[in-house]
Amino acid sequence: MKIPYEPWRASHSILAMLAVGLGFGHGVAVGNYLGLFWKVTLWTAMMLVSLWLIIYVRLVKPWLMTQKPYVVEEVIPQRGDVWTLALRPLGHEGFTFEPGQFAWLTLNITPLSMREHPFSMSSSGTRADRIEFGIKAIGDFTKRIKDYQPGTKAYLDGPYGVFTIDRYWDSAGFVLIAGGVGITPIFSILLTAAERKDDRPFLLIYAASAWDDVTYREELEALKRELDLTIVHVLRKAQDDWEGETGYVDKELLENYIPLHRGSRHYFICAAPVMMDAVERALFELDVPVTNVHMEHFNLA
Ligand SMILES: Cc1cc2nc3c(=O)[nH]c(=O)nc-3n(C[C@H](O)[C@H](O)[C@H](O)COP(=O)(O)OP(=O)(O)OC[C@H]3O[C@@H](n4cnc5c(N)ncnc54)[C@H](O)[C@@H]3O)c2cc1C
Repeated sequence: MKIPYEPWRASHSILAMLAVGLGFGHGVAVGNYLGLFWKVTLWTAMMLVSLWLIIYVRLVKPWLMTQKPYVVEEVIPQRGDVWTLALRPLGHEGFTFEPGQFAWLTLNITPLSMREHPFSMSSSGTRADRIEFGIKAIGDFTKRIKDYQPGTKAYLDGPYGVFTIDRYWDSAGFVLIAGGVGITPIFSILLTAAERKDDRPFLLIYAASAWDDVTYREELEALKRELDLTIVHVLRKAQDDWEGETGYVDKELLENYIPLHRGSRHYFICAAPVMMDAVERALFELDVPVTNVHMEHFNLA
């Protein structure tokens, strides 16, 4: 599948650089504000640092990425309008990562065209030979994921992020709270924990619209055999015979499940902004120490 070339993206950047450069040249030439030697030196240094940053981000970094390409190995449909995109490193070893981290993904076109999107890895952090992403079809780029064919070239910039249990080795266990596609980094955390034979208790509170939309439902169930894992599904539209939790993840629901010794666990939340805000407030009211609460925001706005 080919993506149309959009020349206006590059021309915007070049015109912006020209405008700033000409403005600076004008300021130096007129000399009203930049007459003193130290002022000119300071501003020139700032301009050179900015120029280097632009060159690094737009040229050097993308070029480095082209040296380590990936190919699409599989695209697998999941529940909840999510697609697993599995990538294999091409001619290099790939990378391992701390589960919960994310990478910037570019597909099919060169990274120089700057059309990259951030996605959390959904596979185990210990597997460098196959890196997976769980991608929800919501917009221009994500709705096309299902159409990519095996063999399509991909580029990754990562791993990044601190939404990971690896930084809390002394925690007695973890409370993981996911809403919808917010399950992806948490799924990676659980897969990695199972591979490492982590024997600490994991509580997953997982909100979804309906039972059939619970992404990785079967895979999570299977992980219960390998981990001390309790899963609380919370459905907004439950079927008639549903005996579990319904509605929203609120203070009352959390109070029923989180451990009495609140500070003995670390809490990881990834969901839609409105749910993250509500859960953060509820945890605060339930005396969970703020230093134990970690959030991953998918919305860049
Ligand atoms: C650190 C990080 C990790 C992420 N991990 C994942 C992941 O594992 N899986 C995944 O599916 N997504 C993830 N995302 C979100 C993902 O990057 C965006 O959904 C994607 O870039 C949207 O691109 P698009 O061109 O398809 O949508 P666009 O065409 O840009 O947007 C289409 C419409 O959807 C809305 N929209 C855009 N993003 C979101 C969003 N996140 N939630 C709700 N509405 C949105 C826009 O406002 C717009 O109306 C992550 C984001 C961040 C910052």
